[in-house]
Amino acid sequence: GDIADGLSRSVENVGGAVSGAFFEPVIRLGVTGLSRAGKTVFITSLVANLLDRGRMPQLAAAAEGRILTAYLQPQPDDTVPRFDYETHLAALTSDAPHWPESTRAVSQLRLSLRVRPAGLLAGLQGPRTVHLDIVDYPGEWLLDLELLDLSYAEWVAKVFARLEGRAEADGYRAALEAVDGAARFDEGTARGLSREFAAYLRDAREAGYSDCTPGRFLLPGEMEGSPVLTFAPIPEPERTGRGSLWREMERRYEAYKARVVKPFFRDHFSRIDRQIVLVDALGAIHSGPPAMEDLRRAMADILGAFRPGRNAFLSRLFLGRRVEKILFAATKADHLHHRQHGRLTAIMEAMLREARNRADFAGARTEAMAVAALRATVEETLSHGGRELDCVRGTLLDGGRQAAFYPGELPEDPQRLLGPARQGAEAWLDDDYQVMRFAPARLRLKPGEGPPHIRLDKAAQFLIGDRL
Ligand code: GDP
Repeated sequence: GDIADGLSRSVENVGGAVSGAFFEPVIRLGVTGLSRAGKTVFITSLVANLLDRGRMPQLAAAAEGRILTAYLQPQPDDTVPRFDYETHLAALTSDAPHWPESTRAVSQLRLSLRVRPAGLLAGLQGPRTVHLDIVDYPGEWLLDLELLDLSYAEWVAKVFARLEGRAEADGYRAALEAVDGAARFDEGTARGLSREFAAYLRDAREAGYSDCTPGRFLLPGEMEGSPVLTFAPIPEPERTGRGSLWREMERRYEAYKARVVKPFFRDHFSRIDRQIVLVDALGAIHSGPPAMEDLRRAMADILGAFRPGRNAFLSRLFLGRRVEKILFAATKADHLHHRQHGRLTAIMEAMLREARNRADFAGARTEAMAVAALRATVEETLSHGGRELDCVRGTLLDGGRQAAFYPGELPEDPQRLLGPARQGAEAWLDDDYQVMRFAPARLRLKPGEGPPHIRLDKAAQFLIGDRL
């Protein structure tokens, strides 16, 4: 069972730590974020830059020349799909560069580094091997954690409260009208309802909401169409007899928790040492106050998942072990001139402080940053109507034309976006921001040079620098 698994793992860890010379440390780095946040691009560029080490001055071990070699190895987990690094890198670096396919499920990659120890140890010890196991998983799955605390009836009540007033739910509400939970279960009805509910979740996500459980309804992976994914919230009838629709929906909901949610947390989440959470903060700022509000709630929810003692199931899995560092990174910083990066960082830091308070979070070291895993723009200052505008220039995704944009100005004080004054606030990123959909730039990399980025090395230093 769960306890036994956890125990044998912690014994392994202890055994590893004392076995000295043979022991090769493993860092398990989780990479998550809601879909389109930039996980795939982040991992691809991070690995390419670590393999080549030409563009990582803020990663101390790289700057000090202590990373002797870096190479990909088969990962230790035989049943987890491998992150398709080669295909993704080929997409980004081909003659007609394009963005790779996004994350749909869990995948993994092992990057091994031969590292010369720093400082005094350097003379005493030879180089050692450190394995970096990168685990890519959808942020949607992380938000499923709340289901473990909720019975089917409680979850239904919570979902119905959320549906209230959301136009995206009109179709689902209509589908529920003909439904009687006391009636005999029938597969066709269940399938119709779950399809309709999944469509609502997709529309809600599209509209910027992130409270979209069950997460697998959005990214089903290989379980698409199976009974554990064929349920939906329905109103509780007076009598819920055996064989009724309500009873079977309840059973499938419980099966989803036991067979889908728990295994994910047990097999992947509970083994993570360091975590990066990618956030499309610029997109949310551009979308306006409701999307910002939702992002703030999602950050607190995500942080809550890492809170020690969050719930009994997780505490048993972690057995006192915990994630040591969590980085919240605003992605796509290359949409802004670097003069505005400080402001974006300040906004992320303010949101992180608030998320820590909301989630009552203490423990792991947290930090916030603005990064671009793959820089698709160059900076340019243009004179316009007697003003100097700090622009970014890139190739448009639609049409392939080059264009320079001034995306608007972020507020200097993050509270102008986050504080009570934000209601009715001006649009911080103007309409131009919307059309800024750039294609990756064509790269001419010299040997030993990774793809261009913004602060990927600083992110790597925070996440793994102390272990190299
Ligand atoms: P995932 O769903 O989290 O795996 O997201 P992806 O890594 O596939 O990224 C989604 C999209 O965001 C990409 O197709 C790009 O359009 C954009 N994107 C991601 N990272 C960057 C970046 O560093 N710079 C720019 N300009 N766009 C990015």
